[in-house]
Amino acid sequence: MNISHIEHIGIAVTNLEESISFYEKKLGLKCYSIEEVADQKVKTAFFMVGQTKIELLQSTDSEGPINKFIEKKGEGIHHLAFAVKEIEGALPELENKGVQLIDKIPRRGAEGLDIAFVHPKSTKGVLIELCENKNEINYCIV
Ligand code: ZN
Repeated sequence: MNISHIEHIGIAVTNLEESISFYEKKLGLKCYSIEEVADQKVKTAFFMVGQTKIELLQSTDSEGPINKFIEKKGEGIHHLAFAVKEIEGALPELENKGVQLIDKIPRRGAEGLDIAFVHPKSTKGVLIELCENKNEINYCIV
C-alpha cells in the first residue's frame, strides 16, 4: 500500500457555521468549500493547511454517523484520512492482512474523492479513511 500524505483530518461538530467562524476568525484559516454529502448524512466544510485539509462534519440527520459519534464522545477529531494510490488494491491488501474494513469497495466522498473507511477496532482506536483523487481537479484556496 502506498500512502503519500495525510489528505485531511475529519472533525465532528454540532454547528457548522459556528465552527467555520472559529477556524476563520480565531485561527485565520479560510473555508474554501462547503458541501453536503447525502450518502454520509453530513454537511462538510474544508480548510487547506499546507497540503493537508481540515474537514468539519456536521450531521444532517439525527440517525447519521456523525450525530451518533457526538452523542457518544462529544465534538472532536472523528477520523484521519490518508491519501493512497490505487485504493482498489489497498483495500484487499489490508483485508488480507487481517484488518477489518467498513467499506470493501470505495465509494464517493466529499470533493469527488474515492474513499473507504477502515474499522477502528482494527486500527488501535482510530477511524482511518483511505482516499484517492482520480479527478485531476485542483481544489485550491480561494
Ligand atoms: Zn473524511
